[in-house]
Amino acid sequence: MKSRKIPMRKCVSCGQKREKKDLLRIVNNKEQEVSFDETGKKNGRGAYICKSVECIDKAKKSKRLNILLDTEIDSEFYEKLKEYIQSV
Ligand SMILES: [Zn+2]
Repeated sequence: MKSRKIPMRKCVSCGQKREKKDLLRIVNNKEQEVSFDETGKKNGRGAYICKSVECIDKAKKSKRLNILLDTEIDSEFYEKLKEYIQSV
């Protein structure tokens, strides 16, 4: 039996490929507003990250998201991300 195609995305921190639904999408829109995207439908430049505190902390330290999204992300945003993943 052929396996169904599941959209896979790569976490910016650990580089692991996962199903889209297991990752959190972070979007930088035209107004240079960075937000996280529960629906996966927001417009803008996006990056995916695991729903894990470890990966978020790693991304913060490495500034990978800043590079990928071409913007500055303040530490407050990372705190919000962590709050979010712990609430879902
Ligand atoms: Zn990860």
